[in-house]
Amino acid sequence: MSAKRKLAHPLEEASLASYAARDSTSPGRRYKEDKSASRSEFQRDRDRIIHSTAFRRLEYKTQVFVNHEGDLFRTRLTHSLEVAQIARSIARNLRLNEDLVEAISLAHDLGHTPFGHAGQDALNLSMKPFGGFEHNLQSLRVVDKLEERYGAFDGLNLCFETREGILKHCSLKNARQLGDVGVRFIKRQQPSLEAQLANLADEIAYNNHDIDDGLRSGLLKLDQMMELSIFSRHAAHVDERYPGLVERRLVLETVRRMINQLIVDVIATTSSRLHAQGVKTLDDVRRAPPMVAFSDDIRREADELKRFLRDNLYRHFQVERMTAKARRIVTDLFSAFHDNPRLLPGDHQERAREDAPRAIADYIAGMTDRYAIREHRRLFAIAEL
Ligand code: MG
Repeated sequence: MSAKRKLAHPLEEASLASYAARDSTSPGRRYKEDKSASRSEFQRDRDRIIHSTAFRRLEYKTQVFVNHEGDLFRTRLTHSLEVAQIARSIARNLRLNEDLVEAISLAHDLGHTPFGHAGQDALNLSMKPFGGFEHNLQSLRVVDKLEERYGAFDGLNLCFETREGILKHCSLKNARQLGDVGVRFIKRQQPSLEAQLANLADEIAYNNHDIDDGLRSGLLKLDQMMELSIFSRHAAHVDERYPGLVERRLVLETVRRMINQLIVDVIATTSSRLHAQGVKTLDDVRRAPPMVAFSDDIRREADELKRFLRDNLYRHFQVERMTAKARRIVTDLFSAFHDNPRLLPGDHQERAREDAPRAIADYIAGMTDRYAIREHRRLFAIAEL
């Protein structure tokens, strides 16, 4: 078979719905490249993301629990894999582009700082006078600029649809400076269904795995969880089917039923919205209101769950103690480098000559939890050189 032969991609040609994103209608990449003989464009994006340095670092970045607090908690890496799994299940049912939804899901947290939201908030505060720091924007910056792997360009040179999916939110001010991916924020349009789906799959993943991690850590208690309608309803079904199950299995059986219900609900709600709005093409998707959603009842329960996790887990004093330390580390690192950019390692110092605050933010955002802790020690502990 000649390498030049244009392979038909069965996924694209035969199985996609009319409103799915496809290679053939994509605005493509920022720098022109030859098409692959064996892979679709979004498959290539997915592969580039998996091979990136930023992706490997996700293994050592906090989701809720700092990496060294335990081996069994989610990290940004396992979180991203769970998001991709959930998003692909839904995409296949809705006949959306699974390769694209997978690429977006795996990349959605690439720009996260060490120590989760505490790290992001601290870096944003330090960067306030210099344009701020948003992790979504940083994820885009990682794939557009910071990854250095190719001879012809900086970044991973991903397709437009993957980049627009990574940029979930963005201020109008930033949108104006971003070119193609900023336009939808200015026009108040929606991204592809695949992007909308990766976003909702993110919420399904963290709400459910944070229950699991919260109970595993002992910071949440089963009786507390029973106050939540979605949890207690499924736990009652599990108890009826498997009376007297040990707590750990009861929890896991309950969580898997919850995830399943959310997935089934998203598929049904999204299908009926698409139908009701007469959405046929990707252009229709962009002009319509958001299509990928929970039904009203499930939305209410999901919001209740989110509030519960915020009040009882993310604001638990033990988590709060860790996040206070994390904020201090990030703030200290930023001010030390900002006061004296010559403390930065070689290539970062080079970049700092152009725009010191942004180069420092890039350096800190790229750190894993343990690297940030070590770097803090190297800079602030007298005995550590
Ligand atoms: Mg996420």
